[in-house]
Amino acid sequence: MINRTHDPELRSWIESANAPGCDFPIQNLPFGVFTRSAEGSPPKVGVAIGDFILDVSACVQEGLLDPSPAADACDESAINRLMARKPSALSAFRSELSDALSAAGSVGERARAAASRILVERSDAVMSLPAEIGDYTDFYASVHHATNVGSMFRPDNPLLPNYKWLPIGYHGRASSIVPSGTPVHRPSGQTKAADAERPTFGPSKMLDYESELGFFVGRGNALGESIPIDSAWDHIFGFCLVNDWSARDVQTWEYQPLGPFLAKNFATTISPWVVTSEAAEPYRVAALARDANDPKPLPHLSSDEDARYGGLNAFLEVYLSSSSMRDKRMDPVRLSRAPFNQMYWTVGQMLAHHASNGCNMRTGDLLASGTVSGPENDSRGCLLELTWRGTQPVTLPTGEKRRFLQDGDEVIMKGYLEADNRPRLGFGECRGIILPAA
Ligand code: CA
Repeated sequence: MINRTHDPELRSWIESANAPGCDFPIQNLPFGVFTRSAEGSPPKVGVAIGDFILDVSACVQEGLLDPSPAADACDESAINRLMARKPSALSAFRSELSDALSAAGSVGERARAAASRILVERSDAVMSLPAEIGDYTDFYASVHHATNVGSMFRPDNPLLPNYKWLPIGYHGRASSIVPSGTPVHRPSGQTKAADAERPTFGPSKMLDYESELGFFVGRGNALGESIPIDSAWDHIFGFCLVNDWSARDVQTWEYQPLGPFLAKNFATTISPWVVTSEAAEPYRVAALARDANDPKPLPHLSSDEDARYGGLNAFLEVYLSSSSMRDKRMDPVRLSRAPFNQMYWTVGQMLAHHASNGCNMRTGDLLASGTVSGPENDSRGCLLELTWRGTQPVTLPTGEKRRFLQDGDEVIMKGYLEADNRPRLGFGECRGIILPAA
């Protein structure tokens, strides 16, 4: 439901939140876990606003927010307890946060007077993972990505027969999910060149990124029960950016017959701010219209509401900065920008499918969309596609060529929710630099 917290006219008393292009205007209010870098204070839950973080527990102490289970849940080092609240309680909490940050009204007035005690500059804070992530599942929901990748490996038969009937996914690994800014070592693994007789073990030579949208489960479902497609959004707490780092040479050798394993589980980077599904509400759009020849999804994966509002008008961008570019003080170069509304499967369909066999989803579980690629060449969300398996290298502003990632390369992902006559909401950044193999 769209409410007054989404009002495009709302302004904050924090000026940087009103600046055009700011990721975190007052209509966004994403949650994350921060630590003040100057002090030895423990990590806790905050809300990004402009260039600042609102310290929620400090606001309660100042009497700017009513004590409530939602506010109380922010005095913790993960947002899990907050995520488990009912959507109605979360919505009431969002209204209170919006009032405290609003340039109009008496609560905002009092909050402004307490600014030095309730705000932390984002540049003075260290962000951790937002949630304790019990399980992580990765999908493959872009038909453009699946078709491009499929056609490299199976030119005559890019899409397997199940693709248009169910959202393909695999169980990833939660232990190696790291927050933005964590360096990633080049993984070593077993690879076999097509013409080699035997495999060898060593650092991956085909390291890649995958630009994805992640979504966190808020309230889960009991083991044995399912999540009906039209309830799926009630179980989605919010969204973040995901970089599913992938070692393509390891993947090629290991992926059959059970799918990705060590090619993917050495690291997954996520952005630290979780943009709530309530904030995303005005940015919901129709799901991708299927081709007339495509099958209609089975009833448990299909509904009028999901067809009308199951899509999300998000755009994901990928930037790259080589160490030589940083030495020359060049800005990172944009490699791609991809529309999320071109995904073949919606987030609701992915979640409903995941729970359709009675698998219990738990608060804090992370699901990711799979590489977000659109139909255009510059909307391909990984190097495998952008360079067509290394055959068409990209040229960086220094003249350097990239087929896959080199040591010292930094990958920076950004993303936005966009709608006519509404402020753009940013997801913040998801960045990681490649270190040599350990
Ligand atoms: Ca992936």
